[in-house]
Amino acid sequence: MNSLNREPIQLESASGWFAPPVKRLPSPNFDARPDGCDVEVVIVHSISLPPRSYGGSWISDLFSNQLDPEAHSCFQEVSQLRVSAHCLVDRAGQVFQFVPVLARAWHAGESECLGRTRVNDFSVGIELEGCDDESFTIAQYDCLVALIRGLRRVWPVIGPERILGHCDIAPNRKTDPGPCFNWRRLRGLL
Ligand SMILES: [Zn+2]
Repeated sequence: MNSLNREPIQLESASGWFAPPVKRLPSPNFDARPDGCDVEVVIVHSISLPPRSYGGSWISDLFSNQLDPEAHSCFQEVSQLRVSAHCLVDRAGQVFQFVPVLARAWHAGESECLGRTRVNDFSVGIELEGCDDESFTIAQYDCLVALIRGLRRVWPVIGPERILGHCDIAPNRKTDPGPCFNWRRLRGLL
């Protein structure tokens, strides 16, 4: 994606899939949102596999339950997880979508925000390829903005205060996207 392009990425609102250039890699790790639950917040995550290294298909393999436990010493345990996110933005700004946003992806775990638990029920989870102690790329901020703008066209309720980190909704368990994520930059771009 052109890193200067922060135009909303179009969301096919009947299906919950983003239009190209977002690449679809359907994951089996999702289920229906509970009755009465709609998208109200966006949760920003970071992930790298193996930790602190970038590139390869390891993250999408994880979200597809196809991560080879033998490929790296740390994959044994991780490959047992059944997790997903709606979207992943890689370091170059390519966006992958694993779960339609109308469905519930399994990204937040035990969590709380807006005075409610089980944040998966009412959130969209976006993973940025990265780690806690390294800056994210300009292309990643631009893509994140374009995704959020696309979501806001359908759910205007997603105001600035409803874009949160995994660290905010599970503070005792999670640190991502970490202190290097520039919230001021994101809010400025939005
Ligand atoms: Zn996370």
